[in-house]
Amino acid sequence: MQVDVFTLFPEVFPSYLETSIISRAQAAGLLTVGLHNIRDYATDKHQVTDDEPYGGGGGMVMKPEPIFAAVETVLGVPPRVPLILLSPQGRRLDQKLAQQFSELDHFALLCGRYEGVDERVRQHLVSDEISVGDYVLTGGELPALILIDAVTRLLPGALGAPDGAQNDSHASGLLEQPHYTRPPEFRGWAVPEILRSGDHARIENWRRQEALRRTAQRRPDMLETFELTRDEQLFLENLESGDPE
Ligand code: SAM
Repeated sequence: MQVDVFTLFPEVFPSYLETSIISRAQAAGLLTVGLHNIRDYATDKHQVTDDEPYGGGGGMVMKPEPIFAAVETVLGVPPRVPLILLSPQGRRLDQKLAQQFSELDHFALLCGRYEGVDERVRQHLVSDEISVGDYVLTGGELPALILIDAVTRLLPGALGAPDGAQNDSHASGLLEQPHYTRPPEFRGWAVPEILRSGDHARIENWRRQEALRRTAQRRPDMLETFELTRDEQLFLENLESGDPE
């Protein structure tokens, strides 16, 4: 997969991209990230990329010319791959959307700054807008990294375990069960006996039930659309009627 990122601050990216799973995905040829500094495409002497908003008011707006020049130089006219503007006004990123992006061979991300981009960029260059949540950040660089990270985890072969992403919270439609590691007892708090039993069928059953319990407690809305087996329905009904923690 190729992801091209258009930004005024490319220096934000390398340390994260050179770490852990994302670094390994690039080394394995699963992911290529192209970083493009929008400022390099500003043609005036001072390489200005922002200007005051028409109509007055505070803040600055990213000018259209350098953004169009950067995107069209790298991706052609019109851009031959989807160009996603990171924006608090966009569709909210979730696991389903990340899954859809992970199926693309190539897409591009445009990071806003200041008050955002000139509206003509949004109207005539961008193909989609993605938000990472209902809050406002200073720039689109962290949202771009969030999207790249969420998508990379879903690329076949990117995680150590072949089915590593399948049980992650949200991937299966449930929150994931709790995890424990050594020591078996810490400050008097013991790891559930069943996890040390070596009985894989019972362990799988425990994990499923704990995922259901956790989802029911924290995100009951997710269960509204989740297809439960009869046993799972019974388990949840017992929980509601006061099954102990
Ligand atoms: N004035 C804009 C508004 O109210 O919609 C917010 C601009 S914000 C300070 C600057 C840039 O950060 C945005 O153009 C966008 O690229 C990025 N950004 C901020 N919050 C974001 C979010 N929740 N999701 C995605 N991108 C975000």
